[in-house]
Amino acid sequence: MKKQKTKVGYIAYQTTREEICRLGGLGICDTCNSPEGNGYLVPILNRWLCPRCYEKWEVEAVYYAEDIHIEQKNLKYYESIIPLTDSNEKAQQGGHLKPFRILGITPKGTCTECATKHAPEQPHNQQSLTYQYKFYDKHGRWPTWADAMKHCPEEIKNYWVEALKEHGIEVTA
Ligand SMILES: [Zn+2]
Ligand SMILES: [Zn+2]
Repeated sequence: MKKQKTKVGYIAYQTTREEICRLGGLGICDTCNSPEGNGYLVPILNRWLCPRCYEKWEVEAVYYAEDIHIEQKNLKYYESIIPLTDSNEKAQQGGHLKPFRILGITPKGTCTECATKHAPEQPHNQQSLTYQYKFYDKHGRWPTWADAMKHCPEEIKNYWVEALKEHGIEVTA
């Protein structure tokens, strides 16, 4: 299976029917029940989706940083059972600026900086590719969590620094 990132920053795996059978799946979409040869395994949902349902979900999905432990738990399990054949992650995460991504229009009702739904005083989604590329375009480097919460009031910053620490992420200014 191939690992990739969704538009808002979740992980998804492109898998074949054979691969999903290793997890006890039948190659049937968990959303529309259509039998498929290929589909997408989505750790945050713990579901296997056909390409149509996956595309629909990817467009509508909203990133919730507080749910990432669910994704992490499921993806460790999947990766322990189905070997990764190739990873697109590196290419997406750095080195090559892809200008077309910067022009991407963010979904309605989401923050224009990071394409994630959050209140203005809350941090941007540092994991969002939209945010990462926009930031890179402006500053010539990749954003850190400290950058993502620069605009936040002190007490919200402190809250996030603590919450991220619990997930093993150290925020340094
Ligand atoms: Zn489907
Ligand atoms: Zn934002």
